[in-house]
Amino acid sequence: MNGTAHAAVGAGAGFIVANTHTVTPTETLLLVSIGTIAGLLPDLDIDGKLRGRITLSHKMFRTIAQLIGILMITYSIYEGDGTNQFIGLGIGVLLLILASFLKQKHMLLLTGIAVMAVGLSLQEMWLLLLGVYILIASVVAHRSYTHSAIGVIFVGYIAYRLELSFALPGIHSTCLAGYISHLVADSKLLPFNKRGIKLFLPFSSKEV
Ligand SMILES: [Zn+2]
Repeated sequence: MNGTAHAAVGAGAGFIVANTHTVTPTETLLLVSIGTIAGLLPDLDIDGKLRGRITLSHKMFRTIAQLIGILMITYSIYEGDGTNQFIGLGIGVLLLILASFLKQKHMLLLTGIAVMAVGLSLQEMWLLLLGVYILIASVVAHRSYTHSAIGVIFVGYIAYRLELSFALPGIHSTCLAGYISHLVADSKLLPFNKRGIKLFLPFSSKEV
């Protein structure tokens, strides 16, 4: 199934969940958007539509990554204390080093690190974990861990933390519905799918 179809199914899931909660039109729109993103998330492991959209041109991205690295280092030196200071410094230096040999295929990896860095500095657990997710998606094989039960559990926890931060009921179930809809659409449950998903990784690589 292509990105547009996955996005549409995710949006539909968001819309259904929104309607089971009594929410305002703005909140419905927010839930539909979150469902759409969740429906596209598993395919961050390919050079698909979403990956093309969230990464920028090579040089611009490198400059932004270097700037974030310098900001992290500066911020850590002046504002950080104890462990935070070392984490901030470490990420800043890592970003600077990575950015200097940045190639096309590293862009998603670097996006993950940048999202983690922002999550750390804002003290937002969901953003930090989303960065970890993007980082993992950039290195694993297509249709492996992001398309497995472990992926669902990980994203479910991110969504739980996101719901805590935004205090909007429905975020958790919308994310799960959008994400699971993607896995169902990629699985052999649909008769026209010749390939399935390895749902039980790392315990079994049987395709379902
Ligand atoms: Zn997929």
